[in-house]
Amino acid sequence: MLMLIGVAVAPGEAIGPAVVVRLRAHDVRYRIASEDVASEQGRLAAASDRTRAQLEDIRGRTRHVLGAELAGMFDVQLLMLSDPLLRERADALIRTRHVNAEWAVVEAGEELMQRLRAIEDPYLQERHGDLNDVLGRVRANLQRDDSDANWLNAQLARFAEPCVFVADDLPVSVAAQLDWSRLAALATDAGTRTAHTAILARSMGVPAVVGLQEATRMVPPGAVLLVDGTSGVIAVDPPPAVVEAARHRLLSVTFPQPSISGPALTADGTPIRLCANVERPEDVQFAWREGAEALGLVRSELLLGGQPIGDVSEQIQADAYRAILEHAGDREVTIRTFDITPEEMGVPELLDVEPRERLGMRGLRLGLARPELLERQLRALVRAGQGRNLRVMFPFVTSADEVSRATAMLQAQAERLGLPAPPAGAMVEVPAAALDAERLARHAAFLSIGTNDLTQYTLAADRSDVRVQHLYDPKHPAVLKLIRMVLRGARRHGRRVAVCGEMASDAALLRVLIGLGLREFSMAATSLRQAREAVRQCSIADARDTALHALYEGDVIVPTT
Ligand code: PEP
Ligand code: MG
Repeated sequence: MLMLIGVAVAPGEAIGPAVVVRLRAHDVRYRIASEDVASEQGRLAAASDRTRAQLEDIRGRTRHVLGAELAGMFDVQLLMLSDPLLRERADALIRTRHVNAEWAVVEAGEELMQRLRAIEDPYLQERHGDLNDVLGRVRANLQRDDSDANWLNAQLARFAEPCVFVADDLPVSVAAQLDWSRLAALATDAGTRTAHTAILARSMGVPAVVGLQEATRMVPPGAVLLVDGTSGVIAVDPPPAVVEAARHRLLSVTFPQPSISGPALTADGTPIRLCANVERPEDVQFAWREGAEALGLVRSELLLGGQPIGDVSEQIQADAYRAILEHAGDREVTIRTFDITPEEMGVPELLDVEPRERLGMRGLRLGLARPELLERQLRALVRAGQGRNLRVMFPFVTSADEVSRATAMLQAQAERLGLPAPPAGAMVEVPAAALDAERLARHAAFLSIGTNDLTQYTLAADRSDVRVQHLYDPKHPAVLKLIRMVLRGARRHGRRVAVCGEMASDAALLRVLIGLGLREFSMAATSLRQAREAVRQCSIADARDTALHALYEGDVIVPTT
C-alpha cells in the first residue's frame, strides 16, 4: 500500500475516490461509471465539433489576412483532430477503461505524440507543437467557457459520494467557489499551513493535507484514498480491512458534539474571548455551537466567493454582508475590507504598473488607490450594519495616515447615506504597523494582529512557499516582540487587541499569546474546542513564564500537567 506524507493542515479523517486535477493544464482525471460512458463520449464529440468549427474559422480568417500558405498550418491541425489515433482512440479509452473525457484526450494525445517522435521524418517530428495546440483546444472546449470552479463543480457533482480532490495547486479564488460539500478531503502538491486554501479547508471542516509535491503524479485517478488531515498521511488503495475500519470510525464520529457557550476561562478564572473566523453565512451557527463569542474576522473577498471584486455591485455586497450579520443577531461581527491584488479586483490599469506582487498593491493600499471601489464597499457595509453589531477592519495597513484616511472615508460615506458609521479598526500584519502601533491606535477603534502575514514579513519567509516553511515561525522572538509592541501601543489608547491569525489555533502558541497579555482571539471555528481546552489548562502565571521563555530563549516550553 502506497503512503504519502505531507503537511497536515485541516484535521479529520476521510475516505473517497481520487479525482486528480492539474488545474493549469485543464487536466482532470477520474473514473466514470459504465452507465456514463455514452454521455462522456457525447461530451468529447461536442468538444471536438467545437474545436473543428473554431479551427475552420481561424483557417478562413488567416487565409484572408495572411494568405493560403500560412492558413495551411490549420489544415494540419484539422487533420490531427480527425485522426482516428486521436479521436477514436479517446472514445475507446472512455469505453474500455472508463476514464473521463479530459483524461482520455490526454492519454490518446500522449500515445500519438510517441508515434510522431518515433517517425524519422523531421517535418512530422516538428508537428508536436501543433498536436499540443489541438489537444489544449479540445480540453478547453470540454471545459466550455466556464470558470475553473464551475467546470470542477460540474465534475464533482457527477459522483455519488464526495471525493478526495487531489490537485497540483488550488488557488483560493477557485477554492472559494468550489462546492465543498462534494469534497471528502483535499490533497495538494503545493500549499502550506497558512495559505488561504488551507485556511478555507479548516473552516469548512474538510480534512486536508498539502505540500505533498508528487501527489498528482503518484495517485492513480479513481484510487480509494484514506486521508488523515491530523497526521498528514494518505493511504492509497488501502486493504479492505483498513477501509472497513476507517468507515466504522467515521460513522462513529459523526454524532454532533454538545454545543458550548459562555466565555473560556483559564485555570485561574481569567476570561479569554474566543471568536470565529467565518467566510460563509451558513457557517455562523456552527461557530456559535463551537463556543465562539463573536465573529472576529470575515474575509470579505472570500465571502463574495472569489468573484472579480471590481464587478460586484454595492447592492450585492450589502446583501452578502447582511446575510452574515443576520445570522449573528446582536453578536459582534468584524468584517474586513477586501485584501486582494489588482488582478483579483479586475482593475486592468493598475495591473500594468504592479503585477501580482505580495508586497505591492494590495489590501488598504489598493482601496486608497482606487477610492471608488473602497467607497462602494464601505457604503455597502454601512447599509448592512444598520441595527447590527458590526465593526469594519482595514487590512495590510502600514501607516497611521492610511488608517486616518480610510476612517475618514468611512465617515464620509456614512454621512452621505445619513447613517451612523460602524467602528473601524486596523489589522497589524506588517512590521511597520506593529512598530508604530501606538500611532495606529490613535486612529483605529481596535487592532487585530494578523500573525499569518506578520510572521512572513518579519522573517522574510513567504507563507505560501514550501521551500521556506522551516523559516516561517510565528514563535520567533522577533515576531513575539512585535506582538508585545502592539499590545503596549493599543493599551496607551485603551484599544482592544485581538489575534486573528492561525497562530492562535495552536495550543502551545495560544499559551504564549496569553502570557504576552492577549485576551482575545479569533480562529477557524473547527479549532475553537481545542483552544478552549488549552485555555482551561493554563494559568496566567504559567502562561507568562512560557511567554518570557519564548521571548528571551527562543523556544516554547509547555509544562506538562
Ligand atoms: C493574517 O494575515 O494573519 C490574516 C488573518 O489575514 P489573511 O490570512 O487573510 O492574510
Ligand atoms: Mg493577512
